[in-house]
Amino acid sequence: MNGKDKRTLLIHHPYRAPAGFESPAVPVAKGSTVFFPNVAALRSRTWVDRSAYTYGLHGTPTTFTLEERLATLEGGTHCVLVSSGLAAITLVDIALLSSGDAVLLPDNAYGPSKTFARHELAQWGIAHAFYDPLDPATLAAAITPATKLVWLEAAGSVTLEFPDLRTLVRTARERAPQALVALDNTWGAGLAFDAFELGEGQGVDLTAHALTKYPSGSGDLLLGSVICRDDALARRLSLARSRVGHGVGVNDVEAVLRALPSMPLRYAAQDRSGRSFAQWCTTRPEFARVMHPTLPDSPGHLHWASHCRAAAGLVTVEVDAQYSPEQADAFIDALRLFRIGWSWGGAISLVAPYRASAIHTLPTRYVGALVRFSIGLEAVDDLIADADQALGTLRL
Ligand SMILES: *Cc1c(COP(=O)(O)O)cnc(C)c1O
Repeated sequence: MNGKDKRTLLIHHPYRAPAGFESPAVPVAKGSTVFFPNVAALRSRTWVDRSAYTYGLHGTPTTFTLEERLATLEGGTHCVLVSSGLAAITLVDIALLSSGDAVLLPDNAYGPSKTFARHELAQWGIAHAFYDPLDPATLAAAITPATKLVWLEAAGSVTLEFPDLRTLVRTARERAPQALVALDNTWGAGLAFDAFELGEGQGVDLTAHALTKYPSGSGDLLLGSVICRDDALARRLSLARSRVGHGVGVNDVEAVLRALPSMPLRYAAQDRSGRSFAQWCTTRPEFARVMHPTLPDSPGHLHWASHCRAAAGLVTVEVDAQYSPEQADAFIDALRLFRIGWSWGGAISLVAPYRASAIHTLPTRYVGALVRFSIGLEAVDDLIADADQALGTLRL
């Protein structure tokens, strides 16, 4: 290469990845382009079975490493990464549903998943219906021969009802043997319970995760995953992922690889603080209900107890209906440590307002304003003191 123009030398440098260098970090392999030694290699390599590297969209050594680790954590055998938790959900829908099919969702499903069903899926001739996750009979009643996919979520988004997962899966197997069962397992993160081994011979077919939450743990990136145990199903998901074109940023993949080893410790700490915070909330007359699956009065507590060994750090309260939604907003605005924002699972505690009438489609049991807390890694006594001082706004 000597004698070439500097501009050429800057590009065609002799860099090769160092051999014999080992460190705790997974090497970050970046690339949209992957070089082929010759045309024959270009023609013979295929991304379809993931046996070779051909183009960054279809996977790099770094994305394959994270996929392997996530599959292991979940007790699955295959994982595909996508660009967000929502993309994980919509990939499952896109890969498994065709015109004329129907999908069933719990009424407390992650909101944008319901919205996708109402818009794109409806537009593509795919029907949807919502069932009450605490009443498996409503799932049985919603099943038709067209049902090809049943979504589960535990605990449910915002209102944190914990369903009887084993019974829901059994109901789907018996009444809709043609359907696959998918679980949004973001809350459990592969730590609270084993989605593929729920007990009594029951388990889901696939799980979707927002890695944006606990796996990232920092509120600084978006990433999602879909995990399963079946080879043919994994191939369907992987093909759909590549055809739809879900690239993932390798810097984000690296960040999750770095955060993953500490996730069980962070999850346990947030679980512990979440329980203390929820317990304190039950002592406050301003809160009509406190939703946290470990509390005996929380909807589905016994199901949580029979399925789970841990709980995430999410706590939702229903503000007593004697207070207006504006007063609930003022309470949130008065919080100092809790930051107002979407998402959860990071080090900083977050808070967000919800109205049950806006998120639930079936008749809802909640009338007061809902406030969802995501407990972070601060000292829980400081978080309780913060909520306590902010409640002063409701006493005025
Ligand atoms: C946040 C969340 C998602 C979506 O994840 P994004 O990465 O924000 O798209 C999906 N499901 C649940 C239960 C979530 O909490």
